[in-house]
Amino acid sequence: TQEQTEEGGAWHEMAMERVLWSGEDIKKRVSELAEQITRDFSGKSLAVVGVATGAVIFVADLVREIQIPVTLDFVRMKSYGNSTTSSGKATCIADISIDVKDKHVLLVEDIIDTGITVSTLVAHFGVKEVASFSVCTLLDKPSRRIIPVQLIPGGKFYRGFECPDEFVVGYGLDYAELYRNVPYIGVLKSHVYS
Ligand code: 5GP
Ligand code: MG
Ligand code: MG
Repeated sequence: TQEQTEEGGAWHEMAMERVLWSGEDIKKRVSELAEQITRDFSGKSLAVVGVATGAVIFVADLVREIQIPVTLDFVRMKSYGNSTTSSGKATCIADISIDVKDKHVLLVEDIIDTGITVSTLVAHFGVKEVASFSVCTLLDKPSRRIIPVQLIPGGKFYRGFECPDEFVVGYGLDYAELYRNVPYIGVLKSHVYS
């Protein structure tokens, strides 16, 4: 049961213009991705690395559907933009604490937009002597790409959904640090930004 407003809807309904992927859509896609990942890494040491904070909800659901043992750790990135646009620069401000040498690393992202964050992380993990480096992103906005995703040879690329060129929130994705706990992915009404 959801928190009800006086009008009877959930607290976020008033703010949302439209839903792009429902909680059920996401759940189904997450199981499909996990099934593929399970098949691809069976018999291997898999180290899942989530990019905090946006990917926290996705990675929590994803690892519980993966049917092989995995380790789970996080990196935290800082990008220097405003709340709805990428800035052209990203730095890793908190690294993983697990040793991933000779491990198959799967980086889990909420969304790839310009590609700057993922490119920075590919370079970051490229010097760690990992067995392989793969990327799983829930959303991909290829129309906004500035830097193509250049994987380390042998790495795999998984994506949940192709996202239209719109700013989306929910299921971990924020606007000004809010709306991460919305259980679906949608577009906010324009008045929310003003
Ligand atoms: P990139 O470095 O690929 O441009 O974008 C990386 C980060 O920008 C994402 O991890 C995410 O935090 C943020 N971002 C990009 N597009 C969106 C969007 O549509 N909604 C939200 N909430 N964040 C986005
Ligand atoms: Mg992210
Ligand atoms: Mg954000």
